[in-house]
Amino acid sequence: MTRHGVTVLGATGSIGQSTLDVIRRHPERYRVVALTAHRQVERLVADCIEFNPQLAVVGDARTAAQVQERLAATACRCEVTWGTEALVTAATLPDADMIMAAIVGAAGLEPTLAAARAGKRILLANKEVLVMAGELFMHAVRTHGATLLPVDSEHNAIFQSLPADFARGLAACGVQKILLTASGGPFRSKALSELAHVTPEQACAHPNWVMGRKISVDSATMMNKGLEVIEARWLFDAPPEMIQVVVHPQSVIHSAVQYADGSVLAQMGNPDMRTPIAYAMAWPERIAAGVEPLDLFRIARLDFYAPDFERFRCLQLAYDVLHAGGTAPAILNAANEVAVAAFLDGQLPFLGIARLNESVLQSLAAGPEGSLADVVAADAEARHLATGLVRERRFA
Ligand code: NAD
Ligand code: MG
Repeated sequence: MTRHGVTVLGATGSIGQSTLDVIRRHPERYRVVALTAHRQVERLVADCIEFNPQLAVVGDARTAAQVQERLAATACRCEVTWGTEALVTAATLPDADMIMAAIVGAAGLEPTLAAARAGKRILLANKEVLVMAGELFMHAVRTHGATLLPVDSEHNAIFQSLPADFARGLAACGVQKILLTASGGPFRSKALSELAHVTPEQACAHPNWVMGRKISVDSATMMNKGLEVIEARWLFDAPPEMIQVVVHPQSVIHSAVQYADGSVLAQMGNPDMRTPIAYAMAWPERIAAGVEPLDLFRIARLDFYAPDFERFRCLQLAYDVLHAGGTAPAILNAANEVAVAAFLDGQLPFLGIARLNESVLQSLAAGPEGSLADVVAADAEARHLATGLVRERRFA
C-alpha cells in the first residue's frame, strides 16, 4: 500500500483536528507532510510534536517565532514559516499528494487553488473557495488533473449517492433533484421577533454538530446552507433549480439524490465529520473513522420541513447571487465574513447579518468571474464597504 503524504491546511480547527484523528488511526496509510494554523501556537506545537511534519505555517512572524522557540526544545525539526506564500508552498509540496483544505473563509482560496493547479487530491471542507471562485476553481481542477472530493457532509453524501461517472451530466445520469438537507440550526423554530437579541453563544450552540465559530453562526442564519447550495452548483454542475433544501432537524440523512425512476438514494450516519473526512481520504476504499455506528432504533423518527426563506433571508440571498452569477457570490461571501466577525465581536445584532449582506449586494455591481484577480478585487471591495457599514453602526 502506498503511504499518502497529507498536508492539513487549517490543522488547528475543528475539521483539521478531526482529520488528524483519522490520520492517527491509520499510520500505515497516511503521514503528515505539512500543517498550517493561524495563531493557535499550543495546538500547532502539540500536533508538530506528534506528527513531525516537514513544514508548519502560521499567520505572522511573531507566531512563527513562538512556534519555533517551543519546538527548539523538542525532537521535531520542521521548518516554520508564515504568510500566504508559505500556505501556497504547504499546499504544493511534492511529498504531499493529499491536501485537506480546512481553512475557514476566503483565506483558503489561494492555497487551495494552488493545490488544484499542482494536480493534488483535494479534500475540500473550505466551501468558501467554491462560493468565491467556483468556475475558476473547477476549471483548475479539470485542466490540471486534480481530484476533488467533498468533505462538507452534505456534499460528501451527495457524492456517495451519485454514480461514479456523474461528470457526464446529472440529467444524463437520470438525476432529477439534489435534496440538500439542513438541520435548521439552533433557531430553526424561533420566530423572527425572538431572533433580535440572540447572543454569539446562543448562535454557536449548534444542536447536532460541534464546529468552528464562523460556520456555527452561518448555520444559525442558514447562510451556511446558502453557501452549500452554491457549493453544490459547482461540485456537481447542478443548475440551481435542481437543488432543493430540505430542513431535517436530526441531521441523520446528510443529503440525498432523487432519480427519474422514483429512487431516492441518501447517505445516513451519526453527525460526526470524521465520516466524510475518512471517506474522502480513503476513497474509493473505506476505512474506520472512530465514529459510533448509527442506531436507528434510538433515532426512531426523522422529520422534514420546507425552509422558510423569509426568516432565513441569507438562504434566499444565496439563490439570488447564483442567478446573478459572476462575482456576486464572492461579494456575498465577503460581506458575510465581515458581518459574522462583527456579530461575534458584539458590533452587529444577529438580524443585522442578513441586512448587511443584502445592503452590500445592492450597492455593488457584480462583474464577470474572469481571473483570480477579479475575484480578489470583488472580495476586497465588498469587505471594505461592509466594514464601513459596521463602523457607522448602520445596522446596529
Ligand atoms: P475553525 O474555525 O475551527 O478552524 C479554522 C482553521 O483555519 C484553523 O486552523 C485556523 O487556524 C485557520 N485559519 C483561520 N483564519 C485563517 C487565516 N486568515 N489564514 C490562515 N488560516 C486561518 O473552522 P472549521 O469549523 O474547522 O471549518 C473550516 C472550514 O470547513 C470552513 O470553511 C467550514 O465552512 C468548513 N466546514 C466545517 C465543518 C465542521 O463541522 N466544522 C463542516 C463542513 C464544512
Ligand atoms: Mg455542511
